[in-house]
Parts: sequence; structure tokens; C-alpha cells
Amino acid sequence: MKFFEVNLDEGRRKKYAEACRLSNKTIEDINCPICNTNWVNGTFDRPIEIILTNNNLPDYTYIFPVHFVSEKLKEVILNYSLSEIAFEEIYTKTLEELNEDQIKMFKLDGLRVKNFCSIPSRYYAIDLPEGISVHSDMSIVLHKCENCGRLSYTELKEEKSMLLNFILDRSTWNGIDFFTVKGFPQVFICTERFIEVCKNENITGMIFKEIEVR
Ligand SMILES: [Zn+2]
Repeated sequence: MKFFEVNLDEGRRKKYAEACRLSNKTIEDINCPICNTNWVNGTFDRPIEIILTNNNLPDYTYIFPVHFVSEKLKEVILNYSLSEIAFEEIYTKTLEELNEDQIKMFKLDGLRVKNFCSIPSRYYAIDLPEGISVHSDMSIVLHKCENCGRLSYTELKEEKSMLLNFILDRSTWNGIDFFTVKGFPQVFICTERFIEVCKNENITGMIFKEIEVR
């Protein structure tokens, strides 16, 4: 079995719509006395509201740190039992529903508001379950602070890398087709079967990069 990292496909000839956040984001400064770290935790206020920047709607998109899937991709995941995901319905607004302040804000950001999505659509925010662990050959040690929940890792290698080169441990895979790596909830991984199903169902918005497994 081969494993792939899932990333955002921006679209080639025709760009896919990007998701823009309409609801507020709460930024929390965390000063944890247990792990002795100052860090910032940003969460989207509920209910999540987004708008898409054109009518070429992808089945997968994301605004850090939230990942979104379309109604179609949700059905595909459920029908083929690709994963055990909690789907949170979000409000996907259309251009006609924006108020003047929102239009002004997007224009200030340099976005072409007149192209914004005018078709009602339905998206879901997803959390993926863990499905595999990193291999000990990666020489990292994962930490999770019991007090503040902060995830971190230490590299044991002499030469520290800027970007982690993932090596996954095949023996820890739990058999699902769409999941995250233990300790790295933002890294989305899928199997060959997931890619096959998505191709057959014409699912858009994702590109796949093979990841080393041992
Ligand atoms: Zn902590």
C-alpha cells in the first residue's frame, strides 16, 4: 500500500475558488507554566461562515487551520467508508448575502468581489482521525503538553531540517483511507484507494504527493 500527503490544488487553466473567512477568529495568548511556552492559539468562532472567491468550486479547500469538504466529497467519503470523520456544517454565503462592510473589507484586501460565488453550495469543516505514526527512522520525539495541549517535537538528528521529511511506520496504520499522522493533525494522508475513488468520482481541489513508508 502506498501513502500520499494531500495538499490543496489551486487549479491549472482555471483557478479554483479560494475560501475566505467571514466569521471572527478568536486569538488566545497561551502562557503555559507546565511546558514553559508562550504560544498563540487561533480558533474560528462558531458557526463558521465562509465565502468562495469564484464559481469554480473545489471539493476540498482550507483556511488554516480548518479543512473543508463539499457535500459531494462528504457523500463519497461516507459511501466508500474512506474515513471516520466528524462533519461540521458551515455557512457558505453567496455574493448576494454579503453586507456592505464585508464587501468593503474584501475590496481592501484586493479581491475581485464581483466574481465571488453566486451559487448556493454546502461545505463541511472536518477533523480527521489519526491513522498512522511516524517511523522511528525519522528520529523525532513527539510531545503533547497535558496542560495546554500544545503539540511539539524534538529532532534527534545532528542535522536539523527546515522542513520535516515524513517517514511513516506501516505497522502502525489502522486501515482507514483518509487520516492524519499522530502528533501532526494538519498533515492529511490518504491511500491509493482514496485517490482511485476520488478520480472515479471526479473530486477536485486535491493534489497528492507520495510519502515514504517503512
Ligand atoms: Zn503547556
